[in-house]
Formats: sequence, structure tokens, C-alpha cells
Amino acid sequence: MKIILATSNKGKVRELKEAMSEFEILTYNELIEPFEIVEDGKTFKENALIKARVVYEKLKNLESLQNSEFIVLADDSGVSLPILGNKPGIYSARFAGEDATSKDNMLKVISELKVRKIKKTRAFYTASIAIVGKNGESTVHGWMHGDIIDEFRGYRGFGYDPIFIPNGYDKTLGELPDEVKIKLSHRSKAINLIKKIL
Ligand code: IMP
Repeated sequence: MKIILATSNKGKVRELKEAMSEFEILTYNELIEPFEIVEDGKTFKENALIKARVVYEKLKNLESLQNSEFIVLADDSGVSLPILGNKPGIYSARFAGEDATSKDNMLKVISELKVRKIKKTRAFYTASIAIVGKNGESTVHGWMHGDIIDEFRGYRGFGYDPIFIPNGYDKTLGELPDEVKIKLSHRSKAINLIKKIL
């Protein structure tokens, strides 16, 4: 069975492929022209389902997939800071504005810490993963808890990883080897649940 990812986010694709190496995985833009998906859900779960359903609808009649069994898998994820009322949450990719880069978003989080004169604060990542296929749809969640700090450290991972220290460690995900993130991450935990469903 093919798994088609409803994302072109390079960081997510890399981690999803690594966590599901036993499956044949493609990204949807290897099959059709990439298009904008309006993520107007109010939760990670709603947004993950929106992405998986929209891409499934576009692919289900595609000639090249007619003889193969496939499901579409979408990941909606983000980081939440309790001191900010759990923001940025579902707005993590655009916290500093529509076209914000990861650096812009991290700088905005850091500025929120500096305004409050704190060097670190509790935070958690959430990943909701949705699958949609001819037999129906399912969603699961995974979480990773830790601290957000007021400076960048390291270049690994993606998104907010250079300012996120997972519980039990004293380095950021930007500094720690990839294997640590694979073992601990919100995305890996969600993938392990999805594998049971698959
Ligand atoms: P989405 O594409 O709307 O799901 O946005 C996800 C955003 O959340 C990413 O662009 C990152 O900013 C952030 N994010 C999600 N997962 C991770 C992660 O594993 N590390 C760092 N940032 C993440």
C-alpha cells in the first residue's frame, strides 16, 4: 500500500519518511501540481482532516493510482506555550505573519519571553495525524513536552527545534542528534498509533 503525504514541508516529510520506512511513501506534489489548502479548522485534528480529505479527493480518480491501493496522510502540528494561553498552537507556521520563516516565528516567541523578562518557559508540541482512504478516515495525536528558551541553539530539525529543549535533556532539538527527536517526538508518537490502525 502506498502512503501519500498531504504536505510538502521538507522537515515533516523527512521525519515521516524516516518513521515509516517500511511503507512506500510519496508526497502529493510528486503526483499532481501543488495547490494551496485553506487550513481554517479550529484544532490540529480539524486541520489534519481538512488536508487529508482535500488531497484524497484530488487523487482518488487519478489514472496513475487506479491500480494501486493508497491512503493519504496529513500532519497538522505546532508548539504551544502555556504562558501565552497555548499560542501559537495551530498558528505555529504563521505566528509572525503569513509568509513568516521559522526564524521570524522563533524571534517572535523569543520576544514574548524577553518582554516577560524570562529565559525559559514550559512548552509542548502537538501533532495530529489524519489518514483518509477508501475505507474511511482516522485521526491520532502525539505530544512532546519541554521548555522554550530565549536563544537559538543548533541547526538540526526544523521549525522551533533550535529553541526547544525536550524534558530530560539540557540541549535543544537543534543540537541533539536526530535519533533523540525520533525517539521522543510528538510526530513519532502519533505515527506509532497510526501504524496500529494501518
Ligand atoms: P502546519 O504545516 O500548519 O502543520 O504547521 C506546522 C508548524 O508547526 C511548522 O511549520 C513548525 O513551525 C511547527 N512545528 C510542527 N512540528 C514541529 C517540529 O517537530 N519541530 C519544530 N517545529 C514544528
